[in-house]
Amino acid sequence: MANLDMPVSKLDGIGKVKDAAFEKLGIRTLRDLIYHFPTRYENRGVVTPLAEGKAGMTQSYILTVSTEPKMARLRGSMTVVKFRAFDDSGSVEIVYFNQPYMRDKFHVGETYRFYGKLTEKLGRYSLASPVAELYKEGEPLPDLYAVYRLSPPLNKRVLRECVSQALALCKSELYDTVPSDIRSKYSLASLSFALENIHIPETLDALDRAARRLAFDELFETALAVRLMRKKQTKAFATRMVNTDISPFIKTVPFELTGAQKRAVNDIVTDLSAGEGSDAPRMSRILVGDVGCGKTVCAAAAVFMAVNNGTQALIMAPTEILASQHHADLAPQFVVLGYRVEKLTGSTTAAEKRRIKAGLSDGSIDIVIGTHALIEDDVTFRALGLCVCDEQHRFGIAQRAKLLEKSPRAHMLVMSATPIPRTLSLVLYGDLAISRIDEMPAGRQKVDTVYVNENYRTRLNGFIDKQLAEGGQIYVVCPAVEQVEDDADDGAATVSVFDIGAQPPLKSAVEFSAELAERFPRANVAYIHGKMRPAEKNDIMSRFVSGDIKLLVSTTVIEVGINVPNASLMIVENAERFGLSQLHQLRGRVGRGTRKSYCVLVSDTEGEVARQRLKLMTKTNDGFVIAEEDLKMRGPGDFLGTDGARQSGVGGNYRMAALCQDPAIPEAAGEAAAAVLERDPTLSSPEFAPLRARLSRAMSASETTMN
Ligand code: ADP
Ligand code: MG
Repeated sequence: MANLDMPVSKLDGIGKVKDAAFEKLGIRTLRDLIYHFPTRYENRGVVTPLAEGKAGMTQSYILTVSTEPKMARLRGSMTVVKFRAFDDSGSVEIVYFNQPYMRDKFHVGETYRFYGKLTEKLGRYSLASPVAELYKEGEPLPDLYAVYRLSPPLNKRVLRECVSQALALCKSELYDTVPSDIRSKYSLASLSFALENIHIPETLDALDRAARRLAFDELFETALAVRLMRKKQTKAFATRMVNTDISPFIKTVPFELTGAQKRAVNDIVTDLSAGEGSDAPRMSRILVGDVGCGKTVCAAAAVFMAVNNGTQALIMAPTEILASQHHADLAPQFVVLGYRVEKLTGSTTAAEKRRIKAGLSDGSIDIVIGTHALIEDDVTFRALGLCVCDEQHRFGIAQRAKLLEKSPRAHMLVMSATPIPRTLSLVLYGDLAISRIDEMPAGRQKVDTVYVNENYRTRLNGFIDKQLAEGGQIYVVCPAVEQVEDDADDGAATVSVFDIGAQPPLKSAVEFSAELAERFPRANVAYIHGKMRPAEKNDIMSRFVSGDIKLLVSTTVIEVGINVPNASLMIVENAERFGLSQLHQLRGRVGRGTRKSYCVLVSDTEGEVARQRLKLMTKTNDGFVIAEEDLKMRGPGDFLGTDGARQSGVGGNYRMAALCQDPAIPEAAGEAAAAVLERDPTLSSPEFAPLRARLSRAMSASETTMN
């Protein structure tokens, strides 16, 4: 067995209990372990003079031992070892609890680099259980130590040790997946360098190069998978829809389509009716446009075309909430036109499911709207002619492939409200045909956006009072769910893979909603976040929709698709933590009705780039402009990153690419994927064997990574 496939339980020091903990982290083999990337790094290289140390901060100090360690017994079997150490600026007591062997480790006159948290009691400072490394002039110690997502009893030390073992065992097997000419063209580190340095970085620079390479890989592999999939797909034929008269549908639409909508509908009708006889080349089109631009009606026109030509249509959305909303929007319209519409999601009862599945396979149901429950194996269709996939990037590539399999003669229409930069859309969508809806329905008001800091809080509260008094509703978005005790936030000297610098503390939805409930007792303040049960979320959302809840605090779960026309104010706390496109989407939650609407971005950030980004939000409402600028300022990370905006890559979620701040990476990945497939369209030459192996493994892995 190759070492990479070796179970982690074979490593030294890993018994049943630790093996189970690894399992919890999703780590079974050495390969999994090597691809379990650190979340950040202790930076022990920044040495602080004792006199400048602050209580509560985790830092490095270079200190010489000045008293012999003494051990005392405390209550029960507890022990404490204490001694003093000093540098040029002061001295401190060093304390180890329950580590009696520490008494014999340290000796007067020896110098160590201590990394730990300084504590203060009654004016006396001590360092509690610091990491100690013997320090010798002229023998530099490593600066950076990886910190990982853990599961007890695995700790940092055990994980680091296991990773080192794994890297040593697998060294000769880390064949590079990227051909060397492409590596040199884009100045990419080798795979073995990257994997070693992401875990055991020699320097900050090496870490940066490692992270950049691994970010590239994630996007490169996605770009390849998308292209390979699409190649299969475009070869296929789908049902040609000969009857192009959609006027019966258009007559049921209560408004005049915008120019952009008409163009999009035209594109679709042309695609669906192209070809000869009963075959049309399969349509693969993406409909991109800001929230509220009216994509649904365009998709509905396509659905009409499909059912009016005797086939069935499917609409798949990434969440239950979105599926329900589509169903509520579209069902009445199509029922009037004489079609049968059903909804199928994870929470559909078993009996209902059976009934719907029967109706889909015998063709008595024309249109089905749902979540990924639609691609379960036993859902079959009599004649599926069209698949509409909303926010497709949130489905794993394997799920998209499965959707295609299910519908060998169906056309594909994808919708996305996330205007993403062109280079990134090439990676994520390959060469899908694009219809951009870059025009808002008439009468849509502009949302006034302001950017303020904490000093504005009192006035902001007054503004909330005013909105409430006028009958408006309010969203408050926080970046975190709950306050978490994380040693990253105690000021520890750590660096992230791509350093983002110091950040103001995080507001969390749960705690902040309590504060707001006290301040606005009549607003029925409630909160909603992604960790709540779907039933709970649905309940809160419907109470917000009905106007019972007037102020809703949330994480970004409300980001996609929700429509509450009465909402007039969107407040985003810690706005610096969000991607601009994400902020833009959040802003799109208000201004959907007749009320004059506002978006307030609250941030105390001192970072110059962060401030510029927030200022940009106050200047433009164009999602495409914002996306391009955001890519330039922050790299692709925000488009791939957190929560609501999360995108699924070929191997599941993006880990490195989501942190990457290099705007050139997506372009490089897209270009490289095209170049590689040009050279070898099926990747079957020996040169691409490692890449092929990695892709097929990632494809099967991403099958299991849906929310
Ligand atoms: P999104 O593109 O975000 O999915 P929707 O399709 O949900 O946007 O449309 C948002 C709202 O705008 C809906 O209430 C829809 O009925 C309305 N709408 C769409 N197109 C027009 C139009 N051309 N004129 C007026 N209202 C429209
Ligand atoms: Mg929509």
